[in-house]
Amino acid sequence: MRKKLLLGNWKMNLLVGEAKAFALASTSLTQKAKEHQIMLGVAPTYLGLQTVLASNPELIVAAQDMHFESKGAFTGEISGDMLKDLGVSWTLIGHSERRSYFGETNFSCNKKIKKALSLGFTVVYCVGETAKEYEENQTKQIIHDQLSVGLQGVSEEEFSRIVIAYEPVWSIGTGLNASAEHAQDICSYIRQTLATLSSSKASDAIQILYGGSVKPTNVKTYLLQNDVDGALVGGASLTVESFEALLNEMI
Ligand code: PEP
Repeated sequence: MRKKLLLGNWKMNLLVGEAKAFALASTSLTQKAKEHQIMLGVAPTYLGLQTVLASNPELIVAAQDMHFESKGAFTGEISGDMLKDLGVSWTLIGHSERRSYFGETNFSCNKKIKKALSLGFTVVYCVGETAKEYEENQTKQIIHDQLSVGLQGVSEEEFSRIVIAYEPVWSIGTGLNASAEHAQDICSYIRQTLATLSSSKASDAIQILYGGSVKPTNVKTYLLQNDVDGALVGGASLTVESFEALLNEMI
């Protein structure tokens, strides 16, 4: 039985003090989530990671990205080894904003995913089609490429530390929600594809999240879908009140 997962992606938001206040206020949420077998986490900026880890050890704390090398001449980058050293054990990889603004490709995602898994991380691999690809009915082909290239060389054991976030790019931060039927259709397709890349046992166990303008008012419709195990949430994860409202809707 797959656990539900609610993960907030803070993007480039919240000062360190704000992140700390959120984490301290979230202790009652993590308690509630635990009682209902729901996994709860946030992805702060790199600068917020340490304070969030220290302020609520029950919260899953994910980085938003990491470099595929351990160290070296990569100005401005942070390595998985450095994140691990801080006590971080989860990371997002391939968020659509990394793909569209920073040149992330399925190949670079693959390097990062393999590095993160080798260091013991759980990886939330983000996939999804653009508006044009959606309109041209290419969603499944795009998702297939993102999964088959991004997860190339991942072992059966490592698949147990993969979470997939299906985020249609046209829905992120736009208020344009994918229908629950579309989310289910694609998440089911993702699970079938994962079975061909690993095994049906592994793919049955993988958590698949929906992301894209998820709010307390619509999160439940996604969670009611067979292959949607939770949500990756941007804007609505930035205040503890809204985050709690999302959690309450998932219970
Ligand atoms: C995201 O950042 O992954 C996201 C889904 O953002 P939003 O919820 O704001 O659309």
